Amino acid sequence: MNFLLPLTGSFAQPAGENPTVAMIEAAFAHHGLDWRYINVEVAPEDLGDAVRGARAMGWRGFNCSIPHKVAVIEHLDGLGQSAEIIGAVNTIVRRGDRLIGENTDGRGFVAALREVVDPRGKSIVLFGAGGAARAVAVEMALAGATRITVVNRSAARGQAVADLLNTRTAAQARYAPWTGPFSVPQDTDIVIHATSVGLYPDVEAMPDIDIDSLTPGMVVADGIHNPPRTRLLRAAQGRGCRTVDGLGMLVQQGVIGIKYWTGVDADPQVMRQALLDLDL
Ligand code: NDP
Repeated sequence: MNFLLPLTGSFAQPAGENPTVAMIEAAFAHHGLDWRYINVEVAPEDLGDAVRGARAMGWRGFNCSIPHKVAVIEHLDGLGQSAEIIGAVNTIVRRGDRLIGENTDGRGFVAALREVVDPRGKSIVLFGAGGAARAVAVEMALAGATRITVVNRSAARGQAVADLLNTRTAAQARYAPWTGPFSVPQDTDIVIHATSVGLYPDVEAMPDIDIDSLTPGMVVADGIHNPPRTRLLRAAQGRGCRTVDGLGMLVQQGVIGIKYWTGVDADPQVMRQALLDLDL
């Protein structure tokens, strides 16, 4: 018998409302992995000690969520390509004695989107320019999206994401102001909503998008995972669009994290069901 179990987990504050642990442990159980995923509440001033502790205890890796995604970088030994471009880390992987920071926010999104459409060569309208939108924008560009219009309320943040894409990726990006109902150009292939509008408990909130500008040829994706069927996705389905929900993004991030840590290809259906069973 070996009573020394491999450890993974998450450092965040607040940590108690993060459902990732349920999804990851369901996958560990399903695949017969006797591993643990521990949710840990870590205050910003304790982050360095927490990372040193994980190092000392031989943790195989961990997630970092709000407010540690940028601050954790100085405690790591290196970054993956997209984490370096995005400037934020949400998944830490032990490679030998080194702790390497990766960012799976955008990669999880792209994996979920790929179940419906390949981003290569596509024209994108992206709403939002916060941490999630920035990660999604970079991964869409690295996945071959050719044109990305960043629509955001704050011009400075929106322009910063467009500039990042133009300088660090092959995509052509521009910022578009968001001052009233935004009409999506008819040559758009994929519409991505990555603001926090519509997140529980504000479930009736709707991003200010001209729904009549959505056409059946477009794929509409929402980053909001709670609730999975947002008002935006329901309206897009009503317009005949194919849709991708935020639960898929969350699940695929877990799949990528488990692959990094254990080498196992986890079953996304098992993980999605674990989240649905929580009835958030
Ligand atoms: P940030 O706080 O970094 O960014 C928030 C974004 O939402 C900004 O672009 C902000 O615009 C915009 N925004 C907020 N309120 C409004 C409003 N009333 N009208 C228009 N725009 C608004 O948050 P994150 O990027 O970290 O997260 C965004 C969302 O993505 C959250 O709901 C989060 O739950 C979700 N998410 C989902 C994941 C998943 O796996 N499904 C993973 C990560 C995040 P401005 O710049 O003008 O303030």
